[in-house]
Amino acid sequence: MTRTQSLLALDAAHVWHPFTQMQGWLSDSPLVIERAEGNWLIDTDGQRWLDGISSLWVTVHGHRVRELDDAVRAQLDRVAHCTLLGQANVPSIELAAKLVSLAPKGLSRVFYSDSGSTAVEIAVKQAYQYWQLVGRPQKRRFLALDEAYHGDTVGSVSVGGMALFHERFKDLLFPVERIPTPHAYRWKGRDVLSESLAALEHLLAEKADTLAGLIIEPLVQGAAGMLVQPKGYLKGVAELCRAHDVLLICDEVATGFGRTGTMFAVEQEGVTPDLLCLAKGLSGGYLPLAATLATERVYSAFLGRFDEAKTFFHGHTYTGNPLACAAALANLELFEKRNTLEAMRPAMDALARGLARVASLPHVGEVRRVGMMAGVELVKDRATKAEYDFGERLGFKVCLAARKRQVLLRPLGNVVVVMPPLSLTVAEAELLGRALCEAIEEVTARPRESR
Ligand SMILES: *Cc1c(COP(=O)(O)O)cnc(C)c1O
Repeated sequence: MTRTQSLLALDAAHVWHPFTQMQGWLSDSPLVIERAEGNWLIDTDGQRWLDGISSLWVTVHGHRVRELDDAVRAQLDRVAHCTLLGQANVPSIELAAKLVSLAPKGLSRVFYSDSGSTAVEIAVKQAYQYWQLVGRPQKRRFLALDEAYHGDTVGSVSVGGMALFHERFKDLLFPVERIPTPHAYRWKGRDVLSESLAALEHLLAEKADTLAGLIIEPLVQGAAGMLVQPKGYLKGVAELCRAHDVLLICDEVATGFGRTGTMFAVEQEGVTPDLLCLAKGLSGGYLPLAATLATERVYSAFLGRFDEAKTFFHGHTYTGNPLACAAALANLELFEKRNTLEAMRPAMDALARGLARVASLPHVGEVRRVGMMAGVELVKDRATKAEYDFGERLGFKVCLAARKRQVLLRPLGNVVVVMPPLSLTVAEAELLGRALCEAIEEVTARPRESR
């Protein structure tokens, strides 16, 4: 047995992988990653793989970035962890100030946690408690988009809307009002923008008195398949929420930190939410860290005498972890030092050119992209937009075929996700585009045989 084989045997014996059917796990030929350099992961056999999904959407400036490594090491020489209950720590203070300086104006308070799910869970609970504190406890329901994904804890699943992931848990979830996904590709010939805003306006006119907040992934619904919203949609949603006094919660767990070409996606529509959820890219892909940002309006409602019990009774053991905050601070400083939002443009353009060739393939229904965030929807029939069966695992097969070309990708059903680090080079972007193109051609040329 090689070292890799024995590691995989141990893995199969003991590790239960997320979102994974473990029966057949080894036949999906998993890699065992051991090291990394820049935008490349290196496995236990010494093979190099381009990280085309930023290690599940988190890597920003690449792997093993000197400045981030140094920041974590320097913090290790001070303290790895201490609690935010009853005390403060240096990196969490400095990071909060930095986040507030970067976030849309008005978001002035930072509540830390450790995953996107908890960032959302916290926003939902803050919004819920807020209305009780200001004397309107009947505003207690939430409004969310169909096909939304906000994480995997019970509260974040409640506001999520992905039937495949969530149906099984439906008895555990609290009820949520829904508005349709503004999905232009599937809404054949209809006016997506005005119809979806009209649906929202209708619902708000009827139910705003019972609604605490609306939660949305701004610009792009990621896990739903990189569904890009029509221009003006987010702004319209924000204006309607404002007009009907419903708190706006923007979940930028996926879109934050340069992913869409601006630091935050909401900037592109001039929107300031009441609550902003951040995670994935926050620590540059180094350590688990999340933050929920709130406005002064929300925050100040929680202030009162001790015995009034207006306190936000929520916290996680590792809240404000100094190592993670030090990594995040270094990550944010690098955006300035490297001028990342400008520097990423040539690679973004190269990626766009590569994806334009992908879009012309006969089994590609649509390519959707915002910045360094894209999805390629595979269809059985381009004219009718007929979908491949779930069991055919077309997206997965395309990713396996891309791997033969040194590129690591992950599908969401029949959508192949393309989410490279912002530090991608032009040459790497070209490799990514070429590999994906060839992989799709290889798999769709003979979908029957490979079933
Ligand atoms: C990934 C994601 C989450 C959940 O984050 P975790 O860190 O996996 O809990 C929430 N919202 C969005 C939009 C995401 O993409």
